[in-house]
Amino acid sequence: MELIFELGQEGRGLDLLPECDVCEVTLDAPKRAGKMHLPHVSETELSRHYTRLAKRTHGVNDGFYPLGSCTMKYNPKVNEEMAALPGFTSVHPLAPVESVQGCLEVLYTLQEDLKEIAGMDHFTLQPAAGAHGEFTGLLLIKAYHKANGDEKRTKIIVPDSAHGTNPASAAMAGFEIVNIPSGEDGCVDVEALKAAVGEDTAGLMLTNPNTVGIFDKNILEITEIIHKAGGLCYYDGANLNAIMGQCRPGDMGFDVVHLNLHKTFSTPHGGGGPGSGPVGCKDILAPFLPGSYAVKTADGYEYEGCEESIGSMRSFAGNFLVIVKALTYVTTLGAEGIKEASQNAVLNANYMRVKLADVYDMAYDVTCMHEFVMTLEKKKKEINITAMDIAKAMLDYGIHPPTMYFPLIVHEALMVEPTETETKEEMDYVIEVLREIMAKAKEDPEYIQHSPHHTVIGRPDEVKAARTPVVTYEF
Ligand SMILES: *Cc1c(COP(=O)(O)O)cnc(C)c1O
Repeated sequence: MELIFELGQEGRGLDLLPECDVCEVTLDAPKRAGKMHLPHVSETELSRHYTRLAKRTHGVNDGFYPLGSCTMKYNPKVNEEMAALPGFTSVHPLAPVESVQGCLEVLYTLQEDLKEIAGMDHFTLQPAAGAHGEFTGLLLIKAYHKANGDEKRTKIIVPDSAHGTNPASAAMAGFEIVNIPSGEDGCVDVEALKAAVGEDTAGLMLTNPNTVGIFDKNILEITEIIHKAGGLCYYDGANLNAIMGQCRPGDMGFDVVHLNLHKTFSTPHGGGGPGSGPVGCKDILAPFLPGSYAVKTADGYEYEGCEESIGSMRSFAGNFLVIVKALTYVTTLGAEGIKEASQNAVLNANYMRVKLADVYDMAYDVTCMHEFVMTLEKKKKEINITAMDIAKAMLDYGIHPPTMYFPLIVHEALMVEPTETETKEEMDYVIEVLREIMAKAKEDPEYIQHSPHHTVIGRPDEVKAARTPVVTYEF
C-alpha cells in the first residue's frame, strides 16, 4: 500500500491552508535544514487513504478481540457523547473553581464511586495509565515507610504470576524486587512468601485474579503475612472485570490499588484515546496522595492537596475526558449493572473454556475468573503446532488472536478474555473456529504452520521487525 507521501501531485491540496494574515517573522532559533515534506493530496485522496488504513486494522468495533489481561470490551457510544459535551471540552484547567463546579462534581463523583467499588478510603484520578498508577502507589508506600523512619524497607515482593509492569514499576520507584514462585495451582506459594518476608519488606504487589485468570484462594492469609512483617499490600486492579461488585481489594486487606479505566471501565485503549489509572488507598496513605483532588464542601466543590504529598504525577486532574467516559459507564450500569457485568465476564470465560477443553489443553484445569489460559506445549511436541500457528490461523477467520506467549509461567500460552460484552453467538462462532483449526492442524499441520493464507501480509519476520525497524521515510 502506498504511503501518503507517495500519493497526489506537487502543490495539490495545499490551498486548503488559509492565507497568512499576520506579519511573518523569522525566528532566531535553529532552523530546519531541508524542505518540509507535506503530503500533496486532495481531501478525497486523504479521506480514502485513512479509510483504507482503517479497514486494515482490527478493533472492538470490527469483531471479537479476546486479548487476555487487556479487557478489550465494547466502548459504549454514549460515553463518547458525554465526553463531547461543550461544557466538558471547552473548559480550561485553570478556570476559577466556581465556574467549573460541574467538572469538579464529575471528578468527585467518580472518586466516590471508585472508593465504593474498590473498598478504599481515598482516590486520586491523576495517573495516566496502569503502570503510572503502580508507580504512584509504590511512591505512596515509600513515603509511608519514610515518614515512619522505617527506611530499611527496600524490597517489594512480586509473585511470578504478576503482570510484567509490576516489577518494572517497583524498580522505577527505587525498590529491589523479590520474585516468588506460584504453586502448581497457579496461586502464590504461601510457604515461599513466608520465607521471603522480613524487616526489609516494603510491601507486596499482587495481581488478583492473577495473569492466569485465577483468584488466589489464600488472599486473606497473604495480606496478613505481609502486614505482620510490617509491609503494605498493593493490589493490581487493572482488570477488575472479574470481581467488581462482588468483592473489594480493600476488604481483602490491601492498602493501595490501581484500576485501569481503559480496561474495566470501558474507556478505549491506545488509538482510541489516552488512558487513566486511578489509585485508591487507605487512610494511612492519604497524607501522601499526589496533586489535588476534588472535595465537597458546604459551598460546593473545591480542589484540595496534601502537605506531605509525593508531588504531582501528571498535570492538573488527570485525563479529564476519560474520567467523564468512565463516570458515564459507572452511572449507566449502576450498582446492579456493575455486578452483572463481572458475572457475565466470568461466565463467558468459563463457557468458552469448557467448550474448548476437549480439544485444547488448559494450563489450569479449574474454574477461571474473567480469562483462561490454554497451552499448546503438548501439541507442539506431538504435531509441531505452536501457539503462534493457532493465532495466525485465526486471522483467516477475521478474528483477533488471544494474548500469546503470556503469562511467561505457561509455555506456548494463549490467554483468552472474551469480556462480558460478547454475545453467545459470537463466542460460539469463535469456539467453532478454534475447533476447526485444531482439526485441520491434525489432518494437515503444514497448512496451519503456514497460516494465514488470506490476509494482506502473512508472517512478517518478527525478529527483524523488532531489531531493525524502519520507522522513517526516505524522501
Ligand atoms: C494492562 C495491565 C497493566 C498496565 O496498564 P497500562 O495502562 O498498560 O500501563 C498492569 N497490570 C495489569 C494486570 C494489566 O492487565
